[in-house]
Amino acid sequence: MTAKIIALEEHYADAELTATFDGADAAKAPAIRERLEDVGALRLKEMDQAGIMLQVLSHNSPATQNLEATRAVPMARGVNDRLHAIVRSQPTRFAAFAALPTDDPVAAAEELERAVTALQFKGAMLHGRSRGEWLDHPRFLPIFERAAALDVPLYLHPSNPHPDVVRAYYSDYAKDHPMLVRAAWGYTVETATQAIRLVLGNVFEKHPTLKIVLGHLGETLPFLLERIDESLSRNPKFGRSFRQKFCRHFYVTTSGNFSTPALLCSIMELGIDRVLFSVDWPYIENDKGVEWMARVPLSQDDKDKILFGNAKRLLHL
Ligand code: MN
Repeated sequence: MTAKIIALEEHYADAELTATFDGADAAKAPAIRERLEDVGALRLKEMDQAGIMLQVLSHNSPATQNLEATRAVPMARGVNDRLHAIVRSQPTRFAAFAALPTDDPVAAAEELERAVTALQFKGAMLHGRSRGEWLDHPRFLPIFERAAALDVPLYLHPSNPHPDVVRAYYSDYAKDHPMLVRAAWGYTVETATQAIRLVLGNVFEKHPTLKIVLGHLGETLPFLLERIDESLSRNPKFGRSFRQKFCRHFYVTTSGNFSTPALLCSIMELGIDRVLFSVDWPYIENDKGVEWMARVPLSQDDKDKILFGNAKRLLHL
């Protein structure tokens, strides 16, 4: 087992931000809450047991995407300052993705720059739509512009589907199968839709060096890349550019999806340099991910790229 492993989608909870979401904290299982709130001994013990050297910390969902601008701007600043103090307490074990006040895109771009330049953060995590708005709306362009200029990735994390979608698609099964709305399917559709919309919204034409990260081995998109690309190419003006843009701008992590067939599919579509190890701790246990990677039928060189090499390059570690 290597002790160099870097994991990118590892969550914690900021008490002040969490307190703004009525009931979001209480709905979580006690063992999850305990771990989200722990940024010391328990977290480090479980990292050590699995051989994870570095967690890139990000807030869990919900996050600042749910807050309107006047609350989100000072909140994100406070969240990032407190996260910076956490990283400084364990500078060899933790790094960070910023929380951004997306409801004020210009302020969000400024906060991203402050987080990267003054706090040494490695990028930012965005939790779904910003107060209901898809992020490909032109008003959010300042955030993508700044991420590209700073050469840091934006990690698109799942969040709850639109309430109308929940009602129309899932409500009759949600009582017996609450995870259907979330990790089993609803999150995936929501997040994959956001990624497709970023490609269609010409965000990458405007920012040709922009880097986007998706968890869960790409939220099904590597598996569907050929079908999406072929059918969108029936618009002759668009042509075969979906595959080209997806492969040029997107990275995927293994968070919460320790499937060898899905991993091999992602590598075959995106290339070995675009797949990065993550756990999605504390929702998933560290050792499950590390033990799975040990069994994956890849060379040690390729495993090392996934486990830490690609992250070092993408995050400038
Ligand atoms: Mn997650």
